[in-house]
Amino acid sequence: LPIIRAHVSPDYVPDSKFYKVEAILRPWRIPQVSAALLKMGIRGVTVSDVRGFGAQGGMTERQAGSEFSEDKFVAKVKMEIVVSKSQVEAVIDKIIEEARTGEIGDGKIFLFPVSDVIRVRTGERGELAERMMGGRTDMSSPWSST
Ligand code: ATP
Ligand code: GLN
Repeated sequence: LPIIRAHVSPDYVPDSKFYKVEAILRPWRIPQVSAALLKMGIRGVTVSDVRGFGAQGGMTERQAGSEFSEDKFVAKVKMEIVVSKSQVEAVIDKIIEEARTGEIGDGKIFLFPVSDVIRVRTGERGELAERMMGGRTDMSSPWSST
């Protein structure tokens, strides 16, 4: 399937060092999405089972029998990924590439500025806390790949 991008906006408002990419997606697409993100060095991801209502309305997924809802809300998965500003577009592109079927109910992506990141184990903040060992930044640095 071709990827449809209306336009790319490299200058987000408000400006921030980090952003949260929040994607509401079809549950049965999650394994594919997370595998692709991991492959591109995105290692910090949080997922939650949620239920939602959009254009798809109460129509349950045809592709998976396990997705059953007794009311108008359809089972979805919320994926939250905090990344540095320079990684946002690549993450969005990958999610679209892996999650899209072209049918109503493919989901939506929301982008939020993130003020700070704090690693509980070390107390690190900012870039130090957001970076992950073997993460995308490490992968793209030629001097760190041994
Ligand atoms: P440590 O090195 O102390 O293990 P870490 O950065 O690897 O720190 P974890 O403590 O493993 O972080 O993270 C706990 C949880 O926080 C993860 O299971 C994940 O749900 C969430 N998480 C971590 N980083 C991110 C991120 N960048 N985006 C979204 N969720 C994240
Ligand atoms: N930006 C981090 C890094 O390059 C990765 C963030 C993430 O995995 N969510 O290490």
